[in-house]
Formats: sequence, structure tokens, C-alpha cells
Amino acid sequence: MQLSTTILKLHPKTPFRIAREAQTEVRNVVIKLTVDGVAGYGEASPNKFYKETADRVVELIEGLRDHFVGLRVDSVADIERVWTEVWPRLQPSRAAQCAVDIALWDWLAKKKGISVCELAFGRKPGPIVTSFTIGISTPEELVRKVEDLKAVPSIKVKSDAKGDLAPLRFIAANTVAKLRVDANCAWAELDAKALSTELTKLRTEFIEQPLPPENREQMPAFLAQSVLPVLADESCVVREDVEHIPGHFHGFNIKLVKCGGITPGLAMMRRGRELGLKMMVGCMLETSLLIAAGVVVAQGTDYADLDGSWLLADDPFVGLTYDNGTINVTGMLGLGVEAEI
Ligand SMILES: [Mg+2]
Repeated sequence: MQLSTTILKLHPKTPFRIAREAQTEVRNVVIKLTVDGVAGYGEASPNKFYKETADRVVELIEGLRDHFVGLRVDSVADIERVWTEVWPRLQPSRAAQCAVDIALWDWLAKKKGISVCELAFGRKPGPIVTSFTIGISTPEELVRKVEDLKAVPSIKVKSDAKGDLAPLRFIAANTVAKLRVDANCAWAELDAKALSTELTKLRTEFIEQPLPPENREQMPAFLAQSVLPVLADESCVVREDVEHIPGHFHGFNIKLVKCGGITPGLAMMRRGRELGLKMMVGCMLETSLLIAAGVVVAQGTDYADLDGSWLLADDPFVGLTYDNGTINVTGMLGLGVEAEI
């Protein structure tokens, strides 16, 4: 297999804020694995929060060049084997692992003349309804964002330690969407029962990550108080974390770049099903290549939060569309998206 790596500079349609700092650019890594004239693409969106950078991800993957020479992948079991083999060389970078894993899924499906979804589930991908996220906003920003999302079926709203319901009331009154509230670990001081009861009046489906992961022992009490389902995000990052969800959350969020790609994403989904948990697939700011990989895992989950490439002004991949809140993958082979990279 031949390897090429590229750092893409991507720009959101509107700058977003991280800790009050306006972000106008992200740097994602796209890799291409080619053999027998077939190219498989993979992507990573390295996240500063997890101490990941695009340069480091490229460096780690370039270190695998010798491993790719002569590598043969003929089945899903082979991809799972490669995941285990390369992890000691890519750890602790789940982002690097994710890019390699996705490229192998894309390559193998294309080689077989089918979609990744057929490879994983034995059927073509169905449309996925995604939520669109509204971050903490000024009143003026909120009006503009709501105008953009008037007709979508689902909106995820970020909250903070104030637990202010005014933005949620405004969104519920001015859209038709069901709401999801991402508390971003900030609700430790708030009243779970009162807040969740108010939220049920605002078409809210669930609350995401109300407490910091380190407040784990307080979660059963929060769960007992909440009248809405509660999903883990920061408390459920990798496959092993799923075992600790029952009794602490009703379900969890799967992010491919945090768990290491489609292979662990599917394993988390299957284990979550066995445990009877609710699940969502989430994303970072990423091209429709990585979103298409999320769409594969989302075939088996209850919810999707995959607006990452919709937020981009310069997505280089084509083959995935957002039709009023529903994602359709139009390409037939591999992940169904293509680009000249
Ligand atoms: Mg979250």
C-alpha cells in the first residue's frame, strides 16, 4: 500500500469560539492509501483538548510507512487485526488511529465494489437525521442562527454553569426542532430535577454530559433526579468506557476521532446495544469524509450529531448532502465521498 498524508486547512462558514477565542481555521489530516489502483481515504480532526496536533498525527502515520508496504487487507477481520497491530505505534493518538482505520475501511469496500455500510451492516446506508449545534451565543447571534435553522428537525444547544433557559425558550418558540442540551460538564451546582422538568416543556430529547467526568460518583443521583435521558460525552471516550455507563448515564456519544475510527465505533455501538443504552454519533469540525464514516456507525445508533462538514466553507469532498437536516450519502463505493487530494 502506498501512503500519502496531507494537512488540510479548513475554514468554518462562521468563526466559532473556544474559551472566548474566535477560531477561524482548523487543521485536519487526510491520508490516502493506494494499492491495485484503488485509493482509500481517512481523516483525523486533531483536538487541542486531547493534546493532539495535525503535525504530530502526520508524523506518527508517516512512521508507519514500512508497515503499509506489503500490507494486505481482505476482510473486516483483517482491518480489526491491523487496528491492534498499529495501535502500539500510534498511541496515544486516537486521531492518527482514526485516520488509518477509516482509510482501510474505505479502501476495502471500494476494492470489493460496495459501500462501507454494506461491509459493516450488509446493507446500503440509510438517510441519517442530524442535529445542528447552537453554541453559547449573544442575543444577536442567536437570532441569526435560529433563522438559519428554522426548519431543521433537531438542534443541539450548548449550555454552561448558569443553565440559562432563555436561549432554549427562544429556540423552541422560533423553530420546529426537537432540542438536545449539551451541558458541557457545567451543571454540578444546578438542580437536575427542576431543569430537566422545564426542558421537557421545550421539546427536549436528552441532556448531554451534565457533570465533569471526575464527578462520576454524583452521576447516579443526577440520573435519579432527571426526568430526561442523560447521555455521556466526555465520560465515554473509548470502547472500555462503555462498561462504566450503566447506572451512571442512559447512554453515550461516540466520536470516531476520540475512540480511534470506525472499528472501535462499531464495537462501542454493539456493546451499547447489548447493554440497552441510548447512543449518538458526534463529530468535530471535519470534512464530509469523516462525517461519512460517522454516518456508517450512526446506522446503528439512536441519534446523530454530524453537522461538522455543513459548518465548513471549504469541504473538499463531494458525495454527501445535507437536505434540511437529513444526511444522504450519494456515492456508492467505499464511504461514498471523493476528492482530488
Ligand atoms: Mg458534548
